[in-house]
Amino acid sequence: MTPALRVCALYPDLMNIYADRGNLLMLERRCAWRGIGFALTAAGLGDAVDPSAHDLFYLGGGQDRDQRLCALDLVQTKRDALHAAADEGKLVLGVCGGYQLLGHGYALADETIPGLGLVDVDTIRSAGPRLIGNVAIEVELDEVDGPPLRGVLAGFENHAGRTVLGDAALPLGRVLKGHGNTGKSGLEGVRRDGVIGTYLHGPLLPKNAWFADWLIRRALGVAELAPLDDALEDAAHAEARRAAGA
Ligand code: GLN
Repeated sequence: MTPALRVCALYPDLMNIYADRGNLLMLERRCAWRGIGFALTAAGLGDAVDPSAHDLFYLGGGQDRDQRLCALDLVQTKRDALHAAADEGKLVLGVCGGYQLLGHGYALADETIPGLGLVDVDTIRSAGPRLIGNVAIEVELDEVDGPPLRGVLAGFENHAGRTVLGDAALPLGRVLKGHGNTGKSGLEGVRRDGVIGTYLHGPLLPKNAWFADWLIRRALGVAELAPLDDALEDAAHAEARRAAGA
């Protein structure tokens, strides 16, 4: 029997811009439709997290103000546990503001918000225009068993921060349309083993059901999941790609 998916949502009330809790709902629904158990734990300010109690840690997007609050708490109360989880190969998914906090820090005009240092990226708030719009990227993802999975992720981005990958960092994907990490690099997101950061809101997973399933397979260590009727999800994905022009 497939084990239950155990998800820890970090600051679901504070880091939830653009209804990113839809990502959690998507995981819950796709597990439930297959008879796979789903356990959701919320970890807010001051809460410790147990690295071995969860398969996937989720950190959504947020405004600079909320990011500042969460960043200090992340570093003080959760950093060691999240590093331990990442070292165990657990999934840590950060979207936009959450992605920025996975790196070394987020530099604002007069202060730098500290990051978790899970990935070798730095983010700087630009005085230039916010990077806003529909976005599509191409990604290649390793499978538990079998050849790599190639696909397009489509979503929406809105960020002032520009994220630069360090020498040791690999992007999540290549920009087909939209801005991505800096608007110039042609790169989007970051990936280090199970740690994934991306600027794609949407929410990301409802628009990219195939990626939600990849996360579930990877988190549970299973090679296959029962197929679902994805007519609506496929239409949402096609529409998101069309909106991005990819
Ligand atoms: N506050 C961050 C920025 O503007 C992240 C925004 C977001 O999560 N959409 O870059």
